[in-house]
Amino acid sequence: MHSVPTATWRSLLDLPANPTALAVCTAFAKFAVDALAPRDFRGIPFYAMPLSSLPDRLTDATAPTFAGWYSDLTYFWIRESLPQDRGPGPTVVTTDVVSREATHDLARKAQIVYAAMGEDVPIEELEEIARDTSVDLLCEILTHELAHAVVSLVEGEFDCWAEVARRKKGLPFVESRLNSLAESTKQNHDPGPQLDCHGPRFVRTHVHLAARLRRRGLTSFKIRWPEHNYGHRPFEECYAALVDETDRRSDQSFAKILSTRGPRAFLDCCRQGDSSPPQVAATA
Ligand SMILES: [Zn+2]
Repeated sequence: MHSVPTATWRSLLDLPANPTALAVCTAFAKFAVDALAPRDFRGIPFYAMPLSSLPDRLTDATAPTFAGWYSDLTYFWIRESLPQDRGPGPTVVTTDVVSREATHDLARKAQIVYAAMGEDVPIEELEEIARDTSVDLLCEILTHELAHAVVSLVEGEFDCWAEVARRKKGLPFVESRLNSLAESTKQNHDPGPQLDCHGPRFVRTHVHLAARLRRRGLTSFKIRWPEHNYGHRPFEECYAALVDETDRRSDQSFAKILSTRGPRAFLDCCRQGDSSPPQVAATA
């Protein structure tokens, strides 16, 4: 068996040193379409955006709550911010800014430490450092959100909204859904109602994505696994419970993979029942 050279997110995405968050997201989206789920995204645009490139109303509503989010409506919500709008497509967002308050607090504390050492460092400089926008972190969040996007695509959820938006008369309805989503996100900082999105279909998709990344040499990356919040078994257990499925079906579309039931042991790993169609909501 040939061995695959060890990769990093930066080498996989062919990124320069210190890329912008937008550059990371753009490269990730391309990689997802080309290498991770090519059959499912065939002919369908996929977008990934950093929160810092979106309007303030979104930053303020979601930054304190979510590491990233996906909704089948995201595209319609943020399309004016896309560097290149290629038509409706599943769209994920990663938080690359912590809340202004949290950044400021951290920077303030650092400033006090520097002051004690006799150094006077401008707060703006420390705030810049306090924001963690590492390539690895952004890509870990994006991989989790990609799993949501793939499941949504496979279930036809996104297609349905794209069709509604295509018919002009459906647009006011889309707008009203966007507004209610914005409102509930603002008011509900507890991601409770979104738990349904993390059922066995999501888990299986995420495990397959991780396996596809491992096959490309990305062996040491942190998986944003909803074990604590959502009651799944640890990632490695779910991974093992799929036995050789991730190898056998590494070239298959997720539509095909998810059309079959997973192994019994795997379903036992996902303690939630298979959810009814995921709710339309931003997901943690
Ligand atoms: Zn999630």
